[in-house]
Amino acid sequence: MKAIIIGSGMAGLTAGAYLARENYEVIVYEQFSEIGGVTATITQDGYSWDIGPLLLEGLAPHEKLAKILMELGIYNKIEVIKEDRGQSFPDFQVWRPEKYEGPYWRRDYFKSLFPEESEGLDNYYKFYDRMMAIAYLGNQSLFVKGLKAIGIKLKLLIKFLKVKKFKDWSASQITDYYFKDQKLKAVYLGILADMVVKPSEFFGLGVPFFNVETAFDKRIPIKFQGGKFPVYHYIKNGCGELVKALADLITENGGKIFTNSKVQKIIIKDAKVEGIQLENGEIIETDLVLASGGMFNTFYNLVGKEYLSEDFIKNIEGITLMESVFMVHLGIDFDPSRFQRAALCYYYLTYDIEGAIKKMRDGHYHEGSDGFLIYIPTMHSPEMAPPGKHAITIYTVGPHKLKEGTWEEKREEFADKLIMEAEKIIPGLYEGSETRKIMTPDDFKKRINVLRHSFGGTAPVLGQSNPPHKTPIEGLWYIGAYSESGGGVTGAAVGARNVAKMMLKKK
Ligand SMILES: Cc1cc2nc3c(=O)[nH]c(=O)nc-3n(C[C@H](O)[C@H](O)[C@H](O)COP(=O)(O)OP(=O)(O)OC[C@H]3O[C@@H](n4cnc5c(N)ncnc54)[C@H](O)[C@@H]3O)c2cc1C
Repeated sequence: MKAIIIGSGMAGLTAGAYLARENYEVIVYEQFSEIGGVTATITQDGYSWDIGPLLLEGLAPHEKLAKILMELGIYNKIEVIKEDRGQSFPDFQVWRPEKYEGPYWRRDYFKSLFPEESEGLDNYYKFYDRMMAIAYLGNQSLFVKGLKAIGIKLKLLIKFLKVKKFKDWSASQITDYYFKDQKLKAVYLGILADMVVKPSEFFGLGVPFFNVETAFDKRIPIKFQGGKFPVYHYIKNGCGELVKALADLITENGGKIFTNSKVQKIIIKDAKVEGIQLENGEIIETDLVLASGGMFNTFYNLVGKEYLSEDFIKNIEGITLMESVFMVHLGIDFDPSRFQRAALCYYYLTYDIEGAIKKMRDGHYHEGSDGFLIYIPTMHSPEMAPPGKHAITIYTVGPHKLKEGTWEEKREEFADKLIMEAEKIIPGLYEGSETRKIMTPDDFKKRINVLRHSFGGTAPVLGQSNPPHKTPIEGLWYIGAYSESGGGVTGAAVGARNVAKMMLKKK
């Protein structure tokens, strides 16, 4: 059995690892010169930085990504570091207290800042607890079978009935229901700015999942009444370690991974896959292709609209995508940790999340004035910089295409401006930089070969459905951030595992 996989991001490598272990002849084609997609760790002048995910959910032993890595036998190949992060707003900051103050210290802290919101906060956290229990059960249901699975599904249903009334609510409706003050609402909606999805579009039931308390205090016990909370980890020395562990598993099992190998066409006859054609003209025959990567490129260029139904195309055309990111990676010669207490902090400079996203979708880049994040990976992995030095990433969301000018023309100017904003938090960044690497939306576009860059694939918008794993072409399966699994490292890995499991069942 031969499986051709397009793309060596989290989706492609996970699917490849499952299939290679089961004696499939796996060939992964990656168009870029390095593997990993957005989970790659890049290096320059002795410094390393991640170009994508930072603080990851899913890597505690009870969580999905960890379970996948255990199933594949490579969980021990990466070292995970449990951490939390800070959150900063124009009028207040949210850092874990010096002394542990219990799992609900944020609720109590916000009560002290917004006393008139006390009742709303109590009610929100009841809703939060329910959603955490649901998330835990949902997590477990994936990895059990038979009666146990039915039992979990029943429990899930009972818990869901309690929150069912919010099923079709947006995130704005949820925060309007619990809170009055726009500043407090922004605390829970801010993370949507990171995904460039408007609070009025995002599903309300998702609000607690994007504001898990353990993300703000790693000392909160994992176990709670209804199960276990999500936990946040860094991967020691960057996400590239995870990429390496998966890629090694593929090659150790006889699979091949080719870089600089762009797939130009998926060869189809009578609505069935017959092979692929690379950019250099080479044709490889196969009846099984697992494609990751951008949905427009995959379906319009590699497949061709003539093989797709009108409904399929209409659905793709109607999908809202996330916007892009603008990143500045620096190698600095001083210790920034006295200015930022944790390796990661999100700095929100506006409370108007909906308005900021609207502006961005219209092509206006805020130049850092609406907010950004600062990530210092060397605070947990000193090996990511030469001894005594630090790697640091400043990044913010930006439109995939500028209304005025191009990213190429503006890259240096925008980088300087973003560094200047970050200097307000960590003085000396400009002077102390030994090296810098800028990544614009156009750089991302080339790096992962998409026609239109989106930071995490399709936006999680109410009522939107991504292209399914099973495509209208027999033998062609679609995986990755734009597929029905949705984005995120765990999402892409879970979707790829599900597809690989389907293949193995058929075999
Ligand atoms: C800045 C940033 C921060 C993020 N933060 C988080 C986070 O904190 N938590 C989280 O869970 N997720 C985060 N994500 C999202 C998450 O990383 C992605 O959703 C996920 O890793 C996508 O995996 P993928 O395999 O679908 O896609 P990709 O990683 O994009 O991989 C697709 C691969 O396919 C290759 N390819 C495309 N077309 C072709 C072709 N024709 N021929 C050959 N190869 C091709 C590309 O070059 C690429 O390597 C972040 C993403 C970014 C960019």
